[in-house]
Amino acid sequence: MRPAYSLSTDQQIVLRDAVATAKARPGLAGQIDALYAEVQQAIDARKPRCDVSGKCCQFEKFGHLLFVTTLELAAFDLRRPANDQPDGEGCRYQIGGLCTAHAVRPFGCRVFFCDPTAEGWQQEQYEHFHTRLKRLHEELGVPYLYVEWRQGLSVLDSPESATA
Ligand code: SF4
Repeated sequence: MRPAYSLSTDQQIVLRDAVATAKARPGLAGQIDALYAEVQQAIDARKPRCDVSGKCCQFEKFGHLLFVTTLELAAFDLRRPANDQPDGEGCRYQIGGLCTAHAVRPFGCRVFFCDPTAEGWQQEQYEHFHTRLKRLHEELGVPYLYVEWRQGLSVLDSPESATA
C-alpha cells in the first residue's frame, strides 16, 4: 500500500510546476539562505546537543518524516549536491553517517534535535519559521506546498522536471 504522504500523479504535476515557478524567482536561494541563517541564530541561542549519530536522517528507523515547502525544494534543486545514494530507506544524502547536503539541507533538518532539552522550544521555533516560509511563498507569488522530502526529490528527478 502506498504511504499516506505519497503524491498522486496530479499532485506531482502541481508540485513540478510550482517548483519551476519558484526557481525562476530572482534571488530565491539568497532569500532562503537568509531565513536559514536566522534559524541558525535561534538554535545557537539555545545550544541543543547533537551527537551526530545520524539517526534522525533514517526516517523509518527513527519513526519520523521530513517535510519541505515548495520554495525549499526549489532552492535545494538550484544547488543540489551531486553525491547522493538512493536506497529507499532514510535520506539519500546521508552517506557514511554524514549529511552530504549539509550547507543546503532543508529547514526541518536544521531545527530538529533529539536532545530532550530541545523539546520545549523546538515546536515553537518550527511554527515561527514555518509561518515565515509560508509568507515568503505569498510574497513571491509561488504556490505553497508541503510535501514529504523523498516524494519531493522524486519529482525533481522526473524527466519532465528537467524540461520544465
Ligand atoms: S538532508 Fe542531510 S540532515 Fe537532512 S535528512 Fe538528509 S542527510 Fe539528514
